[in-house]
Amino acid sequence: MEPLTIHLLGTGGGRHTMCTQRRKTAGIRLAHGGTQVHVDPGPGALVHSIYAGLTPMRLDGVIVTHCHPDHYTDAEVLIEAMTGGTTRRHGVLAAARSVLRGGDGIDPSVSRYHQGLAGRVEELVPGSRFEIGGISFEAIKAVHGDGDAVCLRLEAPGVGDLAYTSDTEAYPGLGEALRGCRLLVLGTMWPRGSPLKGHLCTDDALRLIKEAKPRCAVTTHFGIKLLNADPAKEAAWLVEESGVPVIPAVDGLTLTLDEKITARGPRKADEPMTIDA
Ligand SMILES: [Zn+2]
Ligand SMILES: [Zn+2]
Repeated sequence: MEPLTIHLLGTGGGRHTMCTQRRKTAGIRLAHGGTQVHVDPGPGALVHSIYAGLTPMRLDGVIVTHCHPDHYTDAEVLIEAMTGGTTRRHGVLAAARSVLRGGDGIDPSVSRYHQGLAGRVEELVPGSRFEIGGISFEAIKAVHGDGDAVCLRLEAPGVGDLAYTSDTEAYPGLGEALRGCRLLVLGTMWPRGSPLKGHLCTDDALRLIKEAKPRCAVTTHFGIKLLNADPAKEAAWLVEESGVPVIPAVDGLTLTLDEKITARGPRKADEPMTIDA
């Protein structure tokens, strides 16, 4: 069984965290066997993936869930890297309609030129499915400021499936759509008692965990208010209320899914944490 590794290169979300870089906004790198996919490459994705030893020249896919800068700014440069500096058509660009075509007063955030460099382009609309290497993806409806935003579910053989909300509010039916995943990655912008239209606060995260019943959850994509409230305290409350293990992400956290789920912090001194889930 090939493990699936999830590198949380950036765990910041929203304008203020992005502009201050209080948490990085470099997105998520997935690695499975020889396949590498970068999800939501915001500002810093190029630099921090290289610093983490994850060269963008090895990419087979770039996924952009919606047309907001904390999710798309480095997409074009990663596409240039993925295509060997534009010398070969290679890899998949999978992106929301707004990213590819623009909409509602915004231009496409990946130029037509860069869209043309990828080996294949997939437009993400709820229900669309596609594969990159051995990983299967499905787009799920999101409700967010960008009306074309999507959440993702993905599955790799032998390691089960995981879901990533990106940016959405907890609309009725989302918990059902996320049900039964092994790992649920929740973009949690604001803390308890602070609902925010188009996003999840910690109370919404709890509702989704209770409805979706994942084996393990991760909170990430933190806004300033949540950082001020302390992601670790918010996650501890989620564990207490739900009984599900919840890991508050930090920049550089790596999660490996094989028989178990192992979380490794970015520093040598960080003790790996293994979850039997
Ligand atoms: Zn965001
Ligand atoms: Zn957004």
